[in-house]
Amino acid sequence: MVKETKFYDILGVKPGCSQEDLKKAYRKLALKYHPDKNPNEGEKFKQISQAYEVLSDPEKKAIYDKGGEQALKEGGLGRDFSSPMDIFDMFFGGSGFGGGRSRRRERKGKDVVHQLTVSLEELYKGALRKLALQKNVVCDKCEGRGGKKGAVEKCPTCGGTGMQVQVQQLAPGMLQHIQTVCSDCRGQGDRINPKDRCKQCQGKKVIRDRKILEVHIDKGMVDGQKIVFNGEGDQEPELEPGDIIIVLDEKEHPVYKRNGSDLILRLDIQLVEALCGFQKVIRTLDDRDLVITQLPGEVVKHGDVKCIQNEGMPRYKNPFEKGRLIVQFWVQFPKAIPPELVPQLENCLPPREEIMIPDDAEECILEEFDPEQEARKRYKNVYEEDDEMHGPGQRVQCATN
Ligand SMILES: [Zn+2]
Ligand SMILES: [Zn+2]
Repeated sequence: MVKETKFYDILGVKPGCSQEDLKKAYRKLALKYHPDKNPNEGEKFKQISQAYEVLSDPEKKAIYDKGGEQALKEGGLGRDFSSPMDIFDMFFGGSGFGGGRSRRRERKGKDVVHQLTVSLEELYKGALRKLALQKNVVCDKCEGRGGKKGAVEKCPTCGGTGMQVQVQQLAPGMLQHIQTVCSDCRGQGDRINPKDRCKQCQGKKVIRDRKILEVHIDKGMVDGQKIVFNGEGDQEPELEPGDIIIVLDEKEHPVYKRNGSDLILRLDIQLVEALCGFQKVIRTLDDRDLVITQLPGEVVKHGDVKCIQNEGMPRYKNPFEKGRLIVQFWVQFPKAIPPELVPQLENCLPPREEIMIPDDAEECILEEFDPEQEARKRYKNVYEEDDEMHGPGQRVQCATN
């Protein structure tokens, strides 16, 4: 049991979930609430990031599970969270460049991350998806200058720094300096006379452009896999454009569950099939039909697991090799059997063991089992503990007197 579930609730996972589930939950929410897509949900984005930061760190998680947020604070771990953007970049960045990334950043524009929902069929067969995106490109008319050659001048308001310092008087003799982005040049540091401004980009140096990306989904790709389009991110003058990173999000399949390169299928069979053999047709993800046969005389038990080799998911970059198709058998028992047929049925089945009932055996009633019963009782006990302390305790005293 964990002390509190706030961080789990923020990510929409249950305590005790796997690191994989945690990553998936963070990935979904972080992309959804990223300020680029949801500028008004900054607080939510921060909460998601903090919850993930704690729960993905085994040490912090252990402290949180045991003592909640308070224990983290007392341990000095609950105050200095990393910036949500750093967590986000750490999670989605690292598109194979390793270290030195932060230095690259200065000369490189922002990476843009998009999530692409794909079906298990697409990951099995491979697919080509076209994605229409809006992105900034450097204005071709003014070549990114924003106006006529020589029309660009240093912003007089900020002196070209792009920042403005405002002084606020909090109380007599107490001044506060606040640094803000220059309102005249919007942080650009330069300014163009309105009449010399480029007509196409209105002096913004970039224009919005529609771009179609062709995303090749290869056989065997996995949930969370990144497909990187180098240099396809937003363009900015004098900056190397960032990347567009597509993150695959595997949709849950109604029939198959995936476990790495294995596929898991739950197959319901009737009791008669479990006892007397069967043939079943399994439809594969690429629409082939597989026939499986259980010969009469062999019995399949409820919960039995069998597998078909080489009918699982194709392996990424080696699609001719496939994992296993794992079949879990669920035996459907009849609700009841007509009593007059029971003797016939008994004749077919292995005989029952004879039992001896001792003379002093007690007759009991079998009830339906309620798994929640104990938990409810415990809750009630805790709730009424106070009463019991005074109630039965006194009675004991009376009895000894
Ligand atoms: Zn222009
Ligand atoms: Zn300025």
